[in-house]
Amino acid sequence: MFGRMPKKSDNTKYYDVLGVSKSASQDELKRAYRKAAIKNHPDKGGDPEKFKELSQAYEVLSDPEKRDLYDQYGEDALKEGMGGGGGGHNPFDIFESFFGGGGSPFGDAHFAGGSGRGSRRQRRGEDVVHPLKVSLEELYNGTSKKLSLSRNIICSKCKGKGSKSGASSRCAGCQGSGVKVSVRQLGPGMIQQMQHVCPDCKGSGETIVEKDRCGQCKGQKVVQDKKLLEVHVEKGMAHGQKITFQGEADEAPDTITGDIVFVLQLKEHPKFKRKGDDLFVEHSLSLTEALCGFQFPLTHLDGRQLLIKSTPGEIIKPGQFKAINDEGMPHYQRPFMKGRLYLHFSVDVPESGSLSLEQIKALEEVLPPRPTNQLTDMELDECEETTLHDVNIDEEMRRKQTHAQEAYEEDEESSGPRTQCAQQ
Ligand SMILES: [Zn+2]
Ligand SMILES: [Zn+2]
Repeated sequence: MFGRMPKKSDNTKYYDVLGVSKSASQDELKRAYRKAAIKNHPDKGGDPEKFKELSQAYEVLSDPEKRDLYDQYGEDALKEGMGGGGGGHNPFDIFESFFGGGGSPFGDAHFAGGSGRGSRRQRRGEDVVHPLKVSLEELYNGTSKKLSLSRNIICSKCKGKGSKSGASSRCAGCQGSGVKVSVRQLGPGMIQQMQHVCPDCKGSGETIVEKDRCGQCKGQKVVQDKKLLEVHVEKGMAHGQKITFQGEADEAPDTITGDIVFVLQLKEHPKFKRKGDDLFVEHSLSLTEALCGFQFPLTHLDGRQLLIKSTPGEIIKPGQFKAINDEGMPHYQRPFMKGRLYLHFSVDVPESGSLSLEQIKALEEVLPPRPTNQLTDMELDECEETTLHDVNIDEEMRRKQTHAQEAYEEDEESSGPRTQCAQQ
């Protein structure tokens, strides 16, 4: 007849991929695709091949003409029909246009306008972000926190329709578009158009007659629900790290439910500071300890007592660091590996007092000699005598700064008001 006619047998694959029957309505197709696409989206760890297949199937079946062709002749007919055979469709484009596009995880949810094709665009609900305070001990040992959150869920009685009969009428406030346009005159011949979500129907484009409203949700389509979430904070997690509960945010009709996202907020620790996988502890030594040796216990983040001690005969300099291996933070997801614990030493010199001549002599015997810059009598004669006074340096500097500030301000006043370049 026409030379080559595609086999009639392979025209069920697309339906199987989406898991719908051959008689599925456009709405059923859409729902099936949406569900499968969310599950298999590569951004959420799905298989890219599977996702591509889904998008291909949906692309064909959602177009009545292509669906017709596919039903009669199968996949091959489409390849010929599309020309070039290359397809060239990026499955992500379809996904974006289907779900309302936009890379922002927080965007889109406010706009629910009708699309050019007459079918309503699928919105993505907003993600709900909660900060979650954690202590350094909790990040070191790992913990889990149970949190009770209230959220909107689709009303079970009306299945999100909002009405008893399932009927709704076009919103009078926006003529069913879900958006209102306001026009503002900015100047002669200049107007600004702004779109807002219709406040009457909250963007759905429809209203429900009062006596038809669902008794459970009062026509709101959603009801409040309490949900208990258990957040697992794993060993080694970091400040700012996100823990996501996919699709657990507020539900709304015709909306892909957003995620609940917890962002870890590390509370400051009085003793330990964390940098990556390393821990830092400040410790001050007395001059005697710095010179003659020390040992002290340090309570670690898991309650263990570490004995910190110097090597006999070693002198610790002010500002010196020492490290203990494998006593830092556990690595995230490899908690048996740990960073280092650094000790940062300061040395407290004794409060000013006085030493007797004997004490000075004794010290001079054990300490390194003074620098050899002894002055000759001749040189001494050429110098002028000075006196060293005690000072409170912070206090004096602050006072000087205040003076300078006042002087500056006076100067400003006397020079009159400042003029600025007029920008047109
Ligand atoms: Zn209801
Ligand atoms: Zn409206």
